[in-house]
Amino acid sequence: MDWKKWYAKRGGGFILKRGLHLLQRYGLTPGLAQKRIEDSVRLMQRYGCSPSYPTPGQVVDRYPRFIQKLQSLGAEICVHSYHHIDLRTCALDTAVNELAAARKAFERHGIHSSGFRCPYLSWSPELITALPSQWFEYSSNQAVTLAPFLPPVSDQDSGVFNIINQFYAPVSGDAIKSIPYQLENLIEIPLFVPDDLQLQDGLNFNQEQIAQFWMETLQRTHRSGELFTLLTHPELADRFAPAIETLLQSIADLTPRVWLARLCDISAWWREKSAFSAQFNSNPQGSLTITFQASPRASVLIRGISTPHSHPWYGPDHLLESRSLTLPATIEKRPWLGVHPDFPPHALRWLHGRGFITELSHDPSAHVYYLSPRTAVSALELESIAADIEDSCSTLIRFGLWPDQAKSAFAVTGDLDALSLMDYAARLFS
Ligand SMILES: [Zn+2]
Repeated sequence: MDWKKWYAKRGGGFILKRGLHLLQRYGLTPGLAQKRIEDSVRLMQRYGCSPSYPTPGQVVDRYPRFIQKLQSLGAEICVHSYHHIDLRTCALDTAVNELAAARKAFERHGIHSSGFRCPYLSWSPELITALPSQWFEYSSNQAVTLAPFLPPVSDQDSGVFNIINQFYAPVSGDAIKSIPYQLENLIEIPLFVPDDLQLQDGLNFNQEQIAQFWMETLQRTHRSGELFTLLTHPELADRFAPAIETLLQSIADLTPRVWLARLCDISAWWREKSAFSAQFNSNPQGSLTITFQASPRASVLIRGISTPHSHPWYGPDHLLESRSLTLPATIEKRPWLGVHPDFPPHALRWLHGRGFITELSHDPSAHVYYLSPRTAVSALELESIAADIEDSCSTLIRFGLWPDQAKSAFAVTGDLDALSLMDYAARLFS
């Protein structure tokens, strides 16, 4: 441990505040923390929700029976390095070895894991590239900030908010949506910040304000069809239990439904969805039949197209009740995206991830939306294209983003970094 760097990143005020907080929340033995976490898992379970807990391999080695119990209760345990260290500050092979050691610890104790999160979200493109493709199916390291929807942080921050924010390095939530995407061989599942600690200790929000902020985030993500990843600290699970319960009750009342999922479920769905496709057949009288190859959990959404085999879903979109649709010869433009062959393949994959159906074409006027040739498309430009399609197409056929007709998704996730004060002490000397 490089103490100088460790101190410089945090500062004396933050360390004192965090230290006092941990003394209040943890005992010398793990009993207190274990009960708090187990109670929290059982509470969420009553609403059909199971959390995802990134857990260092060192903690799995220390408390295998408790971690196995959480897994048997339906919680997902994901890899969180072996030691709780910033993987950006160590050599690349050390970072890879940390993840390898964590996987071995999980295997040793029968903990199944398909994904990982770096401590402090300390991922790097080099680390993602260096990982063998069979190690993980997903990562969850990209923070998306909800700060644009908060009061100005500088007015209220006690220091904690911005120090934690520096670790998270989030992108702005008004530019990038919280929706999974392909990152090399992995599915990256973004997560929202600020977390509960930033709201409570950073902005001095009381419990009602935090509950209110979460409710607003739920409503906003439901409208936009995004994934609401609630980032919490399990050490605060009992304090926020009423707010989480109210949130889960509100989720159950929303229509169309919200999909409650663990990160591993989201990753599995994203892979399932990547195999969906559509075939187009022209009929002799000029009509056009589109046939969808998709799993039973898929939704086909149509807008501006009249058919008795659909029913209203949300806004202008209706749910198609079958896996094929015949469009009359009178339809002016094909209601999916025309794509020039020189549109970048990675951008095309991204659009498929968003549920859009595409067809190669040289004719810019044959489809309701046309993607011209380009050499490169940034993530920001892709978001802008997706928003433009959403706003400008009065007729459109596409796949829904989430399974079983859900409008948005919700996941609870928080690092299980330690279960006792002794674990925290051990972290400092690892
Ligand atoms: Zn952590």
